Amino acid sequence: MSQDPTLPKEALALRITNYVACSKCADEVAKLDPPESLQNYAAMDVGFTDWGVQVWCRRHKVNIVHIDFEGQKLPADFRRLEVS
Ligand SMILES: [Zn+2]
Repeated sequence: MSQDPTLPKEALALRITNYVACSKCADEVAKLDPPESLQNYAAMDVGFTDWGVQVWCRRHKVNIVHIDFEGQKLPADFRRLEVS
């Protein structure tokens, strides 16, 4: 992974356009009474693997998605943008 930032600073704010969710968690949270947000209900681990990046549901112990980098080394930006 590159040490030099490639993204503009504004990209370090919350820019998620499509959330990743466990379908089992989504099914369960839809039935909760009182309602709870999927964001609060989900318990996910996210991290690098030998192949790429994996998102894992800790609650159901299942793979949510495993992105295969196909051996490519992609730039990653680990700078932290503090927001109040
Ligand atoms: Zn789940």
